[in-house]
Amino acid sequence: MCTSVLPVPHPYAVGQTPPAYREPEEAGTSDGAGDGAAARRRRRGEYLPLPEPLPVPVIDNHTHFDFREGAVEVTIGEALDAAAAAGVRGAVQVGTDLASSRFTAAVVEQDRRLLGAVALHPNEAPLLAAAGTLDDALTEIEQLAAGPRIRALGETGLDYFRTGEDGRGSQLASFRSHLDIARRLGRALQIHDREAHDDVVATLLSDTAPDRVVLHCFSGDAELARTCNEHGWYMSFAGTVTFKNAANLREALLVADPALVLTETDAPFLTPHPYRGRPNASYAVPYTVRAMAGILDTDLDALCARLTANTEAVYGSWD
Ligand SMILES: [Zn+2]
Repeated sequence: MCTSVLPVPHPYAVGQTPPAYREPEEAGTSDGAGDGAAARRRRRGEYLPLPEPLPVPVIDNHTHFDFREGAVEVTIGEALDAAAAAGVRGAVQVGTDLASSRFTAAVVEQDRRLLGAVALHPNEAPLLAAAGTLDDALTEIEQLAAGPRIRALGETGLDYFRTGEDGRGSQLASFRSHLDIARRLGRALQIHDREAHDDVVATLLSDTAPDRVVLHCFSGDAELARTCNEHGWYMSFAGTVTFKNAANLREALLVADPALVLTETDAPFLTPHPYRGRPNASYAVPYTVRAMAGILDTDLDALCARLTANTEAVYGSWD
């Protein structure tokens, strides 16, 4: 593995979009974010290069503009300009707590390329419950969700990776409240499911789920994909589908009903291979979509058109 780090000019400075497409540099033999070179790039906050634009525009249906990981501050307009240059014509900005949900409600009114989702993250809910403020926070989430450009409750769900047994009761109560708000307001539901597949499915089946349910950053296998097909739940594939150790996701993508497949970045997290360890951004969607086309052995134009049609079926029009 090459251990030298070449001086790379910062690709994503204020006032400029990343440089034109170039072949990915050799990433070494390790695909892990913990390898030395990737860790150094992460510390330096280097963005990944602008990919070759997609032939048909798509939409990033899950991103966080309020989380900044890059070394250079980028405005949302500049980030969306970079996305547009890569064939990513819009995004869903996603809230995770009250502050980011208020941020979301504000920014979707400022740029027509954005729609929004608001929620209390499943790891946030137990903290609010312990402080005695969960019910008040849910009331404000419902008020924010009524905005015309807020089209989903998300990200909500269950996370058994970060939340222990003692927080699961309030996490489930919060998830069920979001589900109820989404159904009453006619909004979609964006689900964060981390190591909690069975209980997410059981909750969706026991409560009356809203019409449009999205498993964001789909992390299941072919069996969960079949369950989603059966119930009409959307599966949103992130950069994780490109990871070398993610055969289960590729098998799930092959099983998934094409009418239920979406794509996202979850930026600044989950940067696709071979750029793991760098901050992710909406303009990086083409790396994931090209990988999906390869896995599906399908025409890239047709896949892009399908992804956009599916995304608008969930969230409505961006115009
Ligand atoms: Zn997210």
